[in-house]
Amino acid sequence: MSRYTDAKCRLCRRHGSKLFLKGPRCYTDKCAMEKRPFPPGVHKGSRRRLSSYGIQLKEKQRVRFMYGITENQFKNYFEKASRLPGVTGENLLSLLERRLDNVVFRVGWADSRADARQMVLHGHFLVNGRKVDIPSYLVDEGDVVELSSRGEKHKKIKELMEEERTPTPAWLGVSEDGKATILREPQREDIDYAVEEQLIVEFYSK
Ligand code: SF4
Repeated sequence: MSRYTDAKCRLCRRHGSKLFLKGPRCYTDKCAMEKRPFPPGVHKGSRRRLSSYGIQLKEKQRVRFMYGITENQFKNYFEKASRLPGVTGENLLSLLERRLDNVVFRVGWADSRADARQMVLHGHFLVNGRKVDIPSYLVDEGDVVELSSRGEKHKKIKELMEEERTPTPAWLGVSEDGKATILREPQREDIDYAVEEQLIVEFYSK
């Protein structure tokens, strides 16, 4: 399945939760989930009951859309997570969090993961001093992410770097000189949105 390109707020309404796809708007009362927290095309209060398969599918899609990745990519992450030691669902979330575009979003240098993806694709970031323009690049403990010379000229990123933002997750550290360091691998307790990863594991285990 290709990447979703339809109206972003419809996705949130369809999945019944905020996916934070539109940057600052998501935190205001202009958010469609604040104004119309029911699925598009469905009258308020007339949602149908989902089967257990439907619930699992919905949770998988919700997380997939949140990170803005394709079905194949998501499945690959799951397969990789299942080969790692530990709990598969937690491994999956950790892998998703370690994507370079997610790191850029998490430290507040982009308004959304979609914006972060574009910035990475355009070569605005270095990892350990080398340009990385692959949004899915997985960072490791000890890696340092910073602006490339091209990124230094990007007005919007520079503005966001100077803004007072929500706290950076505990597994990431941002220095005064604008460098983000991966302090450790993200853990389950670092995931700051509601997710039932077991449902995703059940979905792929059928
Ligand atoms: Fe989702 Fe953001 Fe749109 Fe709200 S504003 S419905 S969180 S994309």
